[in-house]
Amino acid sequence: MSDPQNSKSFLFGSTKINYILSFQDRKTLGVRVYPNCNVKVIAPSGSSEEAISKKLKSKAPWIIKQLNDFLSYHPLTPPRKYVNGETHLYLGRQYKLKVEKADFNKVTLFRGRLYIQKKAETKTEKLLTEWYREKARVHFSDTLQKVLPLFAKYKIETPDLHIRNMPTRWGSCTPQGKVILNPELIKAPKGSIEYVITHELCHLIHHNHTKAFYDLQDQMMPDWRKWKERLEYSLV
Ligand SMILES: [Zn+2]
Repeated sequence: MSDPQNSKSFLFGSTKINYILSFQDRKTLGVRVYPNCNVKVIAPSGSSEEAISKKLKSKAPWIIKQLNDFLSYHPLTPPRKYVNGETHLYLGRQYKLKVEKADFNKVTLFRGRLYIQKKAETKTEKLLTEWYREKARVHFSDTLQKVLPLFAKYKIETPDLHIRNMPTRWGSCTPQGKVILNPELIKAPKGSIEYVITHELCHLIHHNHTKAFYDLQDQMMPDWRKWKERLEYSLV
């Protein structure tokens, strides 16, 4: 039998780490960090809060490293119904949906609205998904061209940019120099998009999340932490 789950947090330096605590009949404290950045702690039944927090502080550097390593995909919005008045994100800003019947299909950003004119048989969701994907293709490619000159001295080849829905990741890259981005990223602020692209380009030089990788990322985008956070916590 386990106790009900508890949301807790602790401070390590200036970093606040939230976790879910549960108890189990076991001998050691178990910690798992999930790609959605949830931290789950399973403590032996009957452990004191003091014993748990002491053990957690010793594991904090490892936990923080795991959290930083994930460039995992967090949906920026809960599922949408695609009805009038609903808000949708584009480049980090919210737009109200306005859907109108027409004898053609068209999506326009107009005065803070996402204006959809569509034929009766066309699904709003499909039309909007295609629009996002096209915007993603153009904006990601422009951002790549903007960031790439920073990497000039590393003489990396211009990577092939691919857009692909990935269930758990914002972006990834291959050793052959292919950069793959999640089209959902077009809903994020421009700085966050730049951060993901910079992160992937740094991987073309340092494949793993080593200190050298982070040093390079710091150098290429000194304020990346802010944009990573915006990407992870801009749920609306
Ligand atoms: Zn990475």
